[in-house]
Amino acid sequence: MSRSAPTARTDADRLWRPDLVYSILLLFAACGAVAIAAADTGLLARGHGPGTAGFFIVFGLFAIATGFPHPVFGHVSFDRVAQVMSILVLGPVDAAWVNGLASLIYPWQRLRLGVSMRLVVTASLHNAGLMMFVILGSGLLYEYLGGAIPVTILDPGAGLLLFALVVSMQIVNDAGMMVMLYLRDTDPRLVFNRFTAVVEYVSGAAGIVLAIAFTNESLPYFVLLLLVLTAGMLVIMKYALMRVRLEKLVDERTEELRVQAEEFERQATHDKLTGLPNRRHADSYLQQQVDLAQRRNRRGALALADVDHFKRINDGFSHAIGDQVLERVAQILREGCRSTDFVARYGGEEFLLYFPDTGVERAARVCSELRKAVQGANWSDIAPDFDVTISFGLAEIRDAKHSRSILDEADMRLYRAKRTGRNRVIAA
Ligand code: GH3
Ligand code: MG
Ligand code: MG
Repeated sequence: MSRSAPTARTDADRLWRPDLVYSILLLFAACGAVAIAAADTGLLARGHGPGTAGFFIVFGLFAIATGFPHPVFGHVSFDRVAQVMSILVLGPVDAAWVNGLASLIYPWQRLRLGVSMRLVVTASLHNAGLMMFVILGSGLLYEYLGGAIPVTILDPGAGLLLFALVVSMQIVNDAGMMVMLYLRDTDPRLVFNRFTAVVEYVSGAAGIVLAIAFTNESLPYFVLLLLVLTAGMLVIMKYALMRVRLEKLVDERTEELRVQAEEFERQATHDKLTGLPNRRHADSYLQQQVDLAQRRNRRGALALADVDHFKRINDGFSHAIGDQVLERVAQILREGCRSTDFVARYGGEEFLLYFPDTGVERAARVCSELRKAVQGANWSDIAPDFDVTISFGLAEIRDAKHSRSILDEADMRLYRAKRTGRNRVIAA
């Protein structure tokens, strides 16, 4: 359900697509919201200086970088660790701009990987805007409900509020991503991915633990915890990357098998030399048509065609030349029929043609054209006086109960065509 026209559009044209416009508006709105909230509280007002803000920007960047590819929207990362931790240490306003800044910076390294400027700009603006909204909205709600900042203990009441914080962040984040997928003409439901959700919630829990340690414990203890969690994140990332690679491998194998199965099916139903449906296919097709004609009271005409004196071609020239003639006759028959007509190789130098919803008179006219086309084709590349003719016997479906009876009828007329001089069409 692509909305964009696939033909000649310039890059500049494509730049202003809905997802980019939305991203710009989102970032503007988020900056406005942060500015309004900051007018009340001020920036870095909770006793933390630029050093702590700097740490969170770096930590935020690291948390985003330890991610893995997501099948739908590019990248899943552990940024929730840094976001939750910074809300609980710096408060929602500062956490919003600090993580917004990290999200704004991070996507630019993808230019190096050959990602287009448009996608990088969109990701940068969108991620920054969405993150600021998620953090500010959920953080303010958490505070409004009575959540402590900085958080110091984990009693049941605090635990419930922290849980609400992480859940509300996930909800706002998913809602934002759904809008983005919708604007990109992708199914918004693809946002919901169990593995990704688990990563987000575990990251949130890690952020809470880190925030408590940052506030309550000595620096060495905090650093140790940070290192342990970081190692954990790297292990999960490795696992996730492996999983993505495995899934890709399975998808590729499945596709290979599908293509192979299709090829086997084709080989079982088609003739190798001419590429036309084979006798087995033709028999079941014809029976189907007979059944259909009976049930729906439809017409249909059958023709059996046989190359005249084909044995002489084989004997007089070679089997290879004979094959060449068969290929060319098949091509003439196929090209001379409508795409809704059926043309099969029914035997050695025998072809079966079926004309649905067609009476035998019209079918006979088509066969006459085909007969002339075979005779009139340029065979001179095989030998100077080389010529090929073909005979046809026709029958109409009418009240046939079984395909055998009209096959016999067509075969009888083909035999008559042979007996009465070949190179002719006999339809009655
Ligand atoms: P008629 O005009 O009565 O149809 O005579 P004919 O020689 O065409 O008829 P006949 O049925 O005696 O000969 C058919 C020949 O087609 C015999 C067989 O060796 C040859 N043939 C069958 N399949 C193939 C094939 O795939 N390639 C080639 N080159 N020859 C084939
Ligand atoms: Mg023949
Ligand atoms: Mg024959």
